Amino acid sequence: MSRRGLRYFTLSEIKPRIWFMLAGCNFRCRGCFRPARDVDGALLTPEETLKKAEQACLNYYGKLATEAIITGGEPTIDKEYLLSLIRGLKKKGIEEIVLITNGYEIGKEENGNYASDLKQAGLTEAYVDVKAFSDRIHKWYTGMSNKPVLNAIKKLNDAGIELLVQTVYMPGIVDEQEIEKIAEFLSSLDKELKYQISPFSITFAREKVTRLPTIEEMKCAYEIASKYLPNAMVSRSGCAREYPILPPQKTWITVFPDLTFERRTVKEQHEEHIKWLGSARPREEINEDRVREVELHDKILRTRF
Ligand code: SF4
Repeated sequence: MSRRGLRYFTLSEIKPRIWFMLAGCNFRCRGCFRPARDVDGALLTPEETLKKAEQACLNYYGKLATEAIITGGEPTIDKEYLLSLIRGLKKKGIEEIVLITNGYEIGKEENGNYASDLKQAGLTEAYVDVKAFSDRIHKWYTGMSNKPVLNAIKKLNDAGIELLVQTVYMPGIVDEQEIEKIAEFLSSLDKELKYQISPFSITFAREKVTRLPTIEEMKCAYEIASKYLPNAMVSRSGCAREYPILPPQKTWITVFPDLTFERRTVKEQHEEHIKWLGSARPREEINEDRVREVELHDKILRTRF
């Protein structure tokens, strides 16, 4: 049975909810902000991963979680592992099983109908990133074509999996023009699709490929997307699942593969990012970017979209 690197689980303090942080990714996004992109962590089979997840929940909640979110890195790169993990979660009675993905593997022809297989295994919802509509920009930014990604969205929607499609607004790279094309494409599949636009995170980007968007640019992108999709929205926080409304959650429980756990604040999680960036970005620049990014998020919270 195949194995994947597990960096850690995260447990919510709001409800019995567990995130699986799987290591490794098939993309090399220039602005990647996820330390789990790199292969590391404890190498585990799906059964071993499930056993540890169950133990982590029992230790902390005294019962199993009701919701599981599988993220990374990229969770789909080993189909057999992912399907076994989802089947196991379903068997344990987890009601909501959510996948956060770049979609590429799901849409590849050689992977058969990966989307239907995910549905059958028990997946209830997927968050899929469309990083760019133009294949040229997508290849430049991620190293891969976006054709399988667009195909994945169609297949996941056809399979009846609830979808949230996400795009990061990158001034001068993925701005109004790209967002309009993505929104038009999504609307041609299903006008009811949920579409979320987030500002480029300059603070923790591996490579600062662009600047932070302005609030006016975010508003303009939202208005353009809304012409095609009534369910377009602008991201109001780092985690739509954990705090769609204020006040934001300030701490999470990190459970490591040896089942030791730590309550970590947002600041401590940021330190993990800074460590990962290493010498790629000077700390002084990161601190300055952080101030500007917090100001933008504050404006977004106060703006009616
Ligand atoms: S941003 Fe996501 S898809 Fe892109 S390289 Fe990082 S982990 Fe992979």
